Amino acid sequence: MNQQAISQQAISQQAIAQQTTSSDYRVHNFCAGPATLPTAVLQKAQQELLNWQNKGVSVMEISHRSDEFAQIAHNAQNNLKHLLNIGDDYQVLFLQGGASLQFSVVAMNLLHGVADYLQTGLWSKKAIDEAKRYQSLGRIHVVASGESYNYTTIPDSQTWQLSDHADYFYYCPNETVHGLYLPKPPQVTAPIVADMSSCLLSAPIDVNQFGVIYAGAQKNIGIAGLTIVIIHKQLLGHANAICPTTQNYTQQANCASMVNTPPTFAWYMTNLVLEWLIEQGGIDAIYAQNIAKAERLYRFIDGSDFYANHVDKRFRSLMNIPFRLADDRLNDLFVANASLQGLLNLQGHRSVGGMRASIYNALNQQAIDDLIEFMTTFERQNA
Ligand SMILES: *Cc1c(COP(=O)(O)O)cnc(C)c1O
Repeated sequence: MNQQAISQQAISQQAIAQQTTSSDYRVHNFCAGPATLPTAVLQKAQQELLNWQNKGVSVMEISHRSDEFAQIAHNAQNNLKHLLNIGDDYQVLFLQGGASLQFSVVAMNLLHGVADYLQTGLWSKKAIDEAKRYQSLGRIHVVASGESYNYTTIPDSQTWQLSDHADYFYYCPNETVHGLYLPKPPQVTAPIVADMSSCLLSAPIDVNQFGVIYAGAQKNIGIAGLTIVIIHKQLLGHANAICPTTQNYTQQANCASMVNTPPTFAWYMTNLVLEWLIEQGGIDAIYAQNIAKAERLYRFIDGSDFYANHVDKRFRSLMNIPFRLADDRLNDLFVANASLQGLLNLQGHRSVGGMRASIYNALNQQAIDDLIEFMTTFERQNA
């Protein structure tokens, strides 16, 4: 390197150092979860952290039973109802324990004879394994599995072995790890239970087609610690006796989700995200953006001989896009170079390998443009 190049490099390193230490430095974060949040939401939280609503305390330091917190709780529930058009025949619960606890909670609340499960990837498989702990309450029946296809497609619904009188039909519409998405709920007679942890609020849904929808907040709705449950009121009142009070949907419904202390800060953060989403124009507007983002990335991947996504095109996720490089030995270099460009957390889930770009609501178009530009350069340098 000549002298000029060296000094230029020094200047650009200095520029990067200055940039990264600035308090508002933000990268494009493709993490599957906990995931990127809208910058405006973080700024609002920062602004009112010490002195919330001129009370001289932070929102984390007030009673969950105070009028002030009740207002946040109420607003969050109403904003969610408004965004998803949830009717009064549904109960919205704001719980704890993450989506993974719901794997058990669903069975403890609803399983009495037999429950049907569709196995489409890592998350539905985990739900099945966990529900099987409750076989004393009823049978866990897997209607079909995509395992033999490495979860790149969903078995044809004609081949599903549905039970006659299932307590519920369980599935995961968006398999976060495998990047597999079933946009429309299946045609079944049993009440549908859906783990929407990585797709709730990303696309329009008709809540009336579901018995229970639940989601951990940290992908697309807020921060870790809060789990959203939307349940048809007819499904309340059937919990098994072994169900702990805090996990009993009916008791939580009767106590406005405050059987015990709820995750107040996570609840507050979710409300900020919901307000942000309403400002963006709601679900239809964000959905249009999500489609545009995903289509651009898939088109680029499909147009390249160097990158590949193996998911059946009918079932490709809008939120989580796994892809492989032509040579797995380049994976580490890809991730390292991407980080240097401010493109973070692109490594795939350890069970699948390769890469994965999680492109939730809060990730903007610019992030997709920058990722594609980086991928183009990387391919040119390494193909
Ligand atoms: C992340 C994820 C989970 C697990 O969520 P936790 O809150 O960590 O328990 C479950 N299901 C799906 C579809 C997910 O994406």
